[in-house]
Amino acid sequence: MTVAELLEKGSSLLSQAHIDNFRNEARWIFESVFDCGREYIVFHFEEETDSVSAAEYIEKVQKRASGIPVQYVIGSWDFYGESFSVGEGVLIPRPETELLVDFALDYLKGKENPVVYDLCAGSGCVGLSVAKNCPDANVILIEKSTDAFVYLKRNFEKIGCKNSKIVCGDVLSGFDAFDFPKPDLILSNPPYIETAYIESLQPEVHHEPVMALDGGENGLVFYEAISKKWAQYGNAVAVECGEGQADSIKSLFSELFADVYSVKDYNGTERVVIGRKG
Ligand code: GLN
Repeated sequence: MTVAELLEKGSSLLSQAHIDNFRNEARWIFESVFDCGREYIVFHFEEETDSVSAAEYIEKVQKRASGIPVQYVIGSWDFYGESFSVGEGVLIPRPETELLVDFALDYLKGKENPVVYDLCAGSGCVGLSVAKNCPDANVILIEKSTDAFVYLKRNFEKIGCKNSKIVCGDVLSGFDAFDFPKPDLILSNPPYIETAYIESLQPEVHHEPVMALDGGENGLVFYEAISKKWAQYGNAVAVECGEGQADSIKSLFSELFADVYSVKDYNGTERVVIGRKG
């Protein structure tokens, strides 16, 4: 089959499976299997593909058609200009989480060797992006799930930031449970979905680990732990949150910080809550 025929077959299989973004997803899977960019496709449209890779392509398209998120099928996903390894067992990095990194890089400007924590690090997309873009910072990433930790380690090794450290541990135990330096900045995109609400999420999300989604009965368990057991040691805290959660988090943070505010995402939802001293 030629490149064009194979892509057409992939697109039509995904379209039959009611995947909205079928053309792009068929192409993304192609680019990952054939390890090529978009330009390659444009310039080799009529060329024959090798049959082994073509078979692998169709197999991956079928996986996607069965409902597995495209990011897991591909095995990696871009975040803040870097490709992160992902798969079943770790949360897929979301574009809105880049706002947390934007805030961190801005906050850290001009600070000397700041200590930064990424709590509930998952793939490491937040903490490793900060470490990569702020070489002066020392970033400690903590993740409890051993399944997610496999990806965290892979990304840590791939990105190779010497100024970062990965730790398998439970954020709910608090800062005192770890023997690490005091934080300057604490970052977290913790699980924040209310337990009862998880079942009603989109089908794709059900492939992601419940542990990375479940924020307890009120969805706020991690924010409560961060404000009670971490925040008092830091100069600033920035967390991602779900729709409608910002006010509760602001009131938790205002017990500790003079300056508390939120940042909206591109949809106008209050997405990041920040607390900082003075
Ligand atoms: N911090 C990781 C991310 O933003 C994982 C978050 C989580 O597991 N809830 O993708």
